[in-house]
Amino acid sequence: MIKPPSILVAGSSNTDMVIMADHFPSPGETILGGRFLMNPGGKGANQAVAAARLGGNVAFLSKIGKDVFGEETMAHLKTEGIDVSGVAVDDQQPSGVAQIIVDKNAENCIVVAPGANMTLSPKDADTHIQLLENAEVLLMQLEIPIETIVYLAEKAHEWRKKTILNPAPAQKLPDELYACLYAITPNETETAFLTGIKVTDEITAGQAADFFHKKGVKTVIITLGAAGAYVSSVDFKGILSAPAVSALDTTAAGDTFNGALAAALSNGKDLESAVAFANKAAARAVTKMGAQSSIPTLEELSKPV
Ligand code: ATP
Repeated sequence: MIKPPSILVAGSSNTDMVIMADHFPSPGETILGGRFLMNPGGKGANQAVAAARLGGNVAFLSKIGKDVFGEETMAHLKTEGIDVSGVAVDDQQPSGVAQIIVDKNAENCIVVAPGANMTLSPKDADTHIQLLENAEVLLMQLEIPIETIVYLAEKAHEWRKKTILNPAPAQKLPDELYACLYAITPNETETAFLTGIKVTDEITAGQAADFFHKKGVKTVIITLGAAGAYVSSVDFKGILSAPAVSALDTTAAGDTFNGALAAALSNGKDLESAVAFANKAAARAVTKMGAQSSIPTLEELSKPV
């Protein structure tokens, strides 16, 4: 019998539309740009793809519009081997899109129209609750409505699943959500936003971790870019370094880290090994350009850079 997915990712999917340009247009100005690229994106979809490429058996709970972008997203996720039975179609709202302009200095300017992502309701989650019941790990970000995130986290807590929350993009979180989390995985900016503590070393990282522990979070993993990640749990406190690489583009480093972490935990790895694996996968992602295009497979990861 085929095993049901052991990871449920609940989150956003977008289509990124990128135009390369010499400079950003001023208000009222129209400029001719260069290359145009259309890529699958959204933190939810990126992390689902990362978990699937890195050894996880993944189901995705998300909402798309009744349009060509939604169809493309669905087809793409299927080619990644992701169970899309929890991807619902909204009749009213369009699929999420992000319009991105990249200038000659590689700076970007982004506007996201979340569309159907923001209509993923607790009722939608409930329709597909079987996916959570079958899973061991629930992975979420903050690009879908907070009440849906809280609903799923509470159910997962009741059923003793491991919920990982990547609190991006940062927003204030309700206390009842913290109490349901197995792990929270903020980067340094999100940590400062949520705790008011600027992480500059292991001591300040520990203080920020204590903020989350006091709210009921079991495991705190603060990602530190090239330095790796600070981990705080009952059994371990300290920095786990990322491998040194020559970084080309850090887009989706965080998404790769979270997907890899979920994959490793769902495959029975202990916390320290799972974070080491996530560091290795995310470090590999920064050696390549792009978002999902930079996420390595297990096979790529087994080869030297
Ligand atoms: P992004 O928003 O760019 O996707 P993030 O800000 O969410 O990333 P970071 O803390 O910058 O998250 O990076 C996540 C993980 O990616 C790090 O914990 C590390 O494992 C890896 N990483 C990021 N930058 C580098 C780098 N320059 N060299 C090696 N590993 C890196």
